[in-house]
Amino acid sequence: MHEDVISLGKKGVEEEGYSEIPENYKKGKSKYIVIIGTVMSGIGKGIFSSSLGTLLGCNGIKVVPMKFDGYLNYDAGTLNPYRHGEVFVLDDGTETDLDLGSYERFNNRNLTKENYLTAGKLFKTIIDKERAGKYLGRDVQFIPHVTGEIKHFVRNLANKSDADVVIIEVGGTVGDLENSYFIEAMRQLAYEEGKDNVCFVSLSYILKPSSLGEHKSKAAQIGLRNLLSLGVQPDIIICRSNLPIETKIREKISVYSNLPVEKIFNLHNVNGVYEIPLYLREIGLDKTIMERLSLQKGTANSELTFENWERFADNIKKAEKTITIGITGKYTELWDSYISILNALEHCAPYYGCKVNIKWIDTTEISEENVNEKLRELDGIVVPGGFGSRGVEGKIRCVRYAREKRLPYLGLCYGFQMAIIEFARNVLGWSDAHTTEVDRNTSKPVIDLLFNQKSLNEMGGTMRLGGKEIILRPGSFVSNLYGKTQIRERFRHRYEFNNNYFRDFIAKGMVFSGKAKDEDIIQVLELREHPFFVGVQFHPEYTSKPLRPSPLYLGFVYACLKRKI
Ligand code: GLN
Repeated sequence: MHEDVISLGKKGVEEEGYSEIPENYKKGKSKYIVIIGTVMSGIGKGIFSSSLGTLLGCNGIKVVPMKFDGYLNYDAGTLNPYRHGEVFVLDDGTETDLDLGSYERFNNRNLTKENYLTAGKLFKTIIDKERAGKYLGRDVQFIPHVTGEIKHFVRNLANKSDADVVIIEVGGTVGDLENSYFIEAMRQLAYEEGKDNVCFVSLSYILKPSSLGEHKSKAAQIGLRNLLSLGVQPDIIICRSNLPIETKIREKISVYSNLPVEKIFNLHNVNGVYEIPLYLREIGLDKTIMERLSLQKGTANSELTFENWERFADNIKKAEKTITIGITGKYTELWDSYISILNALEHCAPYYGCKVNIKWIDTTEISEENVNEKLRELDGIVVPGGFGSRGVEGKIRCVRYAREKRLPYLGLCYGFQMAIIEFARNVLGWSDAHTTEVDRNTSKPVIDLLFNQKSLNEMGGTMRLGGKEIILRPGSFVSNLYGKTQIRERFRHRYEFNNNYFRDFIAKGMVFSGKAKDEDIIQVLELREHPFFVGVQFHPEYTSKPLRPSPLYLGFVYACLKRKI
């Protein structure tokens, strides 16, 4: 029966099922774990999915993650990070949701556009196909066409990546209109692939109203009931909670979900996110999932091992010193908008036995009068990526402080551009030097639009995006940090250093130590006679991983620590 269903639609014959199967797809070769949230969002589904990847990866299983996002944007590139969290950029230039960043970090692997499916991308594919006459006169319907395309994306990823397991995180929660057809597609997938090949994990939140002081499972029960009404029987339930839940709660959930209590796990808050994979191993989640999907332990790749992960998590716990790093940014209370930077710092600090304390600096409030006082207690400062004019003068003022007071400075993308402007104004004496992003009429446009951006009129996916090769000058500070003269880092920008001013800058001591391999674009600046003053046009935080920290961040954290002691 499964064979019949799975072959439907192959030749475009008019049939009621529509599941185009990628060429050479072998059913059962890759297994699937589908993670669906109930009750509410914001309970760490992304971190759980990532941690499950670490857990299985350390067991030697090749895990490939995938995320479904219900919004109609084609990708995350046009989303406001202050509303939705950081835009994470993959090596192939795909602009994604921040969860992809956490998959890359926890699974210790790089991902591509195939690991990310938004409703916008799904519907664009379908409408483009319809316009090309590919549906052969059929009315295009949610079932079978939309669900069919979703299954095709999933199987295509399994096929291409040669995954043992594809972990699929369904964005949103059960009951949302916008993920209903994703869940339906997963129900169909389970039927077609066979029960042994697909495992549903439901993540539910267990409330503890302060007025009662005890855990209540009702909301979780209702959420699970909703999931069951969609034809999805969870195989495993993860009860998220702040504090450990009582057995009686798991027993209640068991009654409502047709699942034995042993399949109902509690993931209460632990001391830090890196502890989660280890905690999941402790409660035996890997064993349960591997049994359920008949997965065999394999040989873990040399980096992602329990031993290495434990060492990293342990170093975080053992860290005794603390450094304080200032990050300038607008709406600075939103941690999610800078999540990769915070992570990259966190990957390095335990390496030197220290913790990072972050001080947010709202640059709209920085003035000539208060700058010394506002930055006084910092051991280093990061000016991160950004767009537009808000707070720019304050950022430039912070760069000046860092340069003159020999405070370690790391400028990331916009931070690189701010360092250029500061140098032009205060060292070269060009008082109105600026980026044309902010001032089109400046007499010294030291930062200007990239040449090929000038004729663009679409916003989405049109920046200079993704991983690119950079040539570093041998012997420079930055090439010494990386230990090589060619690196690959990820970009997301429209503006660049204006090469017309190249000679003026180097005459005054600016060192341009990195340029694009295939284009004439300056990518790295550094200052001599300064403990750490580096600006990079790229975002090294996108490639930093717990088990493979960014050399640039390592150097920066080290310089901050040295200043402190
Ligand atoms: N706004 C700048 C540009 O487009 C910097 C971008 C960024 O920081 N990601 O070039």
